Amino acid sequence: MAMKYPEIDNTNYFTNRALFNKEGEKTGKILMYREKGKEEFYLRMKCPFCGHMQEREEAFEKKPYRPVCEECGKKVVISKLKSQK
Ligand SMILES: [Zn+2]
Repeated sequence: MAMKYPEIDNTNYFTNRALFNKEGEKTGKILMYREKGKEEFYLRMKCPFCGHMQEREEAFEKKPYRPVCEECGKKVVISKLKSQK
């Protein structure tokens, strides 16, 4: 899969983070961003529950964004990042 990164100045949302399964293990990851003027987000995700890699464009209504794994159907909640100690 070809990675495509945006010009950071051209985005109004960007996250690149680890995703955790129910046991709290770091088993997935997601890169997600939206370019200015676009309704859809680009997302590239490794599902933390089943490990399936996926890449697509999708529009989300409101935060927190919840992409659904196309393989296992589980929701991945992209919650607001808390400050870490
Ligand atoms: Zn999955």
